[in-house]
Amino acid sequence: MIILIYGPQGSGKGTQADIIARKTGLLHFSMGDALRREIKLGTDIGKKVEGIMLKGELVPATITNKLLVKAVKSPEARKGIIIDGYPRDEAQLAFYSKNFRTDCAIELNLSEKESIKRISTRRICPKCGRNYNIVWLKPKTAGKCDICKTALVQRADDKPVEVKRRLKIYRTNTLPIKKYYKKLGVLHIVDASGTIEEVNTVIMKILNNLIVK
Ligand code: AMP
Repeated sequence: MIILIYGPQGSGKGTQADIIARKTGLLHFSMGDALRREIKLGTDIGKKVEGIMLKGELVPATITNKLLVKAVKSPEARKGIIIDGYPRDEAQLAFYSKNFRTDCAIELNLSEKESIKRISTRRICPKCGRNYNIVWLKPKTAGKCDICKTALVQRADDKPVEVKRRLKIYRTNTLPIKKYYKKLGVLHIVDASGTIEEVNTVIMKILNNLIVK
């Protein structure tokens, strides 16, 4: 089972993918997290992508395709995988569709105004990568990660200029590829303006129908 989840920045795709993975046993693969991990480990890939990511631009497909294949073929993905943040443009889709199937594509729909509002209050743990929001997904202790107690920070690419650039890429490069999912008959558009629980209830109904089918 391969599920793709996509949406504008701040739509909660990482948070939802995490919950889905916990409830279904699928592996959650986030391309953004995988790339940030490479940067943190100081690998060759990390060195190549750091500047690109800071500007909010897309990193080369040669890198993302390699990370994707590794994740989909990993033993942790034997029950299936939920992929967040890939494919993001026609070129990635061409590679993806040639090599892998899509059982379900979930689009999280959110206005640009709301995306910007949510991103400005998003915080991340620089150590374990867990996401928080200082308004609606607060850590138990203010400013500290619940898991590893590290001080939370704002992502460098969550600053207003970079967020606008990423939203533009989403609108012009990522959103148009939904016509492929539509043609396959696997596209589900979900309103992401509700609470985490509300949005998750809608998604789980879609997935339960898919699993029962
Ligand atoms: P995200 O964590 O999904 O917001 O992604 C953060 C950043 O990682 C993006 O702004 C890009 O620089 C890079 N990135 C994530 N996924 C991809 C992808 N599929 N293709 C190219 N770059 C990506």
